[in-house]
Amino acid sequence: MTKVLVATDKPFAAIAVKGIREVVEGAGYELALLEKYTDKSQLLDAVKDANAVIIRSDIIDAPVLDAAKDLKIVVRAGAGYDNVDLAAATAHNVCVMNTPGQNSNAVAELVFGMLVYAVRNFYNGTSGTELMGKKLGILAYGNVGRNVARIAKGFGMDVYAYDAFCPAEVIEKDGVKAVASTADLFKTCQIVSLHIPATAETKGSINFELMNSMPKGAIVVNTARKEVIDEAGLAKMMEERPDFKYITDIKPAIDTDLAAKYPDRYFGTPKKMGAQTAEANINAGIAAAKQIVDFLQNGNEKFRVNR
Ligand code: NAD
Repeated sequence: MTKVLVATDKPFAAIAVKGIREVVEGAGYELALLEKYTDKSQLLDAVKDANAVIIRSDIIDAPVLDAAKDLKIVVRAGAGYDNVDLAAATAHNVCVMNTPGQNSNAVAELVFGMLVYAVRNFYNGTSGTELMGKKLGILAYGNVGRNVARIAKGFGMDVYAYDAFCPAEVIEKDGVKAVASTADLFKTCQIVSLHIPATAETKGSINFELMNSMPKGAIVVNTARKEVIDEAGLAKMMEERPDFKYITDIKPAIDTDLAAKYPDRYFGTPKKMGAQTAEANINAGIAAAKQIVDFLQNGNEKFRVNR
């Protein structure tokens, strides 16, 4: 019988697992669960007879693919898939997919939860500022970026965006001002929210020069990936610009140091929280299960990321 494994170090909400089970068993397949595993050997063992695997931030590398002799497809329930070794998957003839858009609203809402916290001085009792009327720069107008733009308009913010691959007309159709470059976005906006993927091009790209070009009272909010930040540049920015705040859902390696030195200007969520809502779990988990069924039954590769 076809076996679908859900391998999640950080488990889905129970209601999401229920929905996944309904889709998988409804297709006549067997569902296996490996949750909160503490050692990679447990994953290596669990994938041995799996034909399909649903993961979250779990690492799928060459050793896992070597162990998974019957594997045909891996679906990352979520947007970012930098935790999967795509070249190794292709070499093993395994299809890799993500579930774009399913957790975007969850991440976008967190951006504003963190922004209100930042402009109200981390709720320390002092007078803060409002978001209304402030210039917000959205770096990358993808699924999350578009949701951030939608919510920002509700706050009455002046919204700007830059995306290397999305045409300005598409951005402006949403009532958002398109700028010509990342540099222009940082120069223009007091608040910048990062929504770029971690790629060879973007890794370390948010550097001191960019951040230091921001207007007074600058805030950078990162719900994308820690790799996109140049950490030495961030440390320098925190030191040289006492008006600058950095708030992040993905802690940098220098988190402890920044939290100790700048408790009123640096904040990192204790764990990555962006997609941690029941709705996002359900949406992404069920989408992953449906994509697996559609791939195995009809060969649908619409969301394949390792072509
Ligand atoms: P998406 O693929 O829908 O959008 C990414 C956008 O980035 C695309 O529009 C693309 O054109 C643009 N882009 C790519 N390279 C660029 C570059 N060099 N400069 C400017 N734009 C560029 O992805 P998404 O769902 O919007 O997710 C955005 C980011 O958020 C990703 O890094 C993802 O991993 C991260 N994410 C984090 C969480 C979390 O839990 N914090 C959850 C979901 C997504």
